[in-house]
Amino acid sequence: MVEVQPPSPGLTQAESLAQLERRLPAFALFSRTAATSSRTYVGALNTRTGQTALASSGGMPGCAAYCAEGNALLALGGNPSEVLFTGAVTVRRSAQGALEAVPMPVCVKCQLDYPRSNFLPGARGAPGGSWGD
Ligand SMILES: [Zn+2]
Repeated sequence: MVEVQPPSPGLTQAESLAQLERRLPAFALFSRTAATSSRTYVGALNTRTGQTALASSGGMPGCAAYCAEGNALLALGGNPSEVLFTGAVTVRRSAQGALEAVPMPVCVKCQLDYPRSNFLPGARGAPGGSWGD
């Protein structure tokens, strides 16, 4: 699932990314179904056009499964040097039984596909990746 938004004139890159991070939990909770409960979700900004995307992991028609980052990148034109990613989240059930969006580190495969500079400062990489913590 991918949702692309047109540029927001007047927003800086940092403001656009902050807005994406605020919208991401609701997008994840709204998109999640029992069959897609293991998906991750990410926001992305095209730094050239100002377009933004919210995306889930999962295969697109005719393609193998992609990470959320790959799906967001494709939706924004496919050029990694023009895209910045927010932190990713996944949806878990809390101890109280409510669904909640929780942060996810950048997976090992995405650490190979994208340098740390594609992510916001403070992004965490999963252990065992090329720049993981
Ligand atoms: Zn990944």
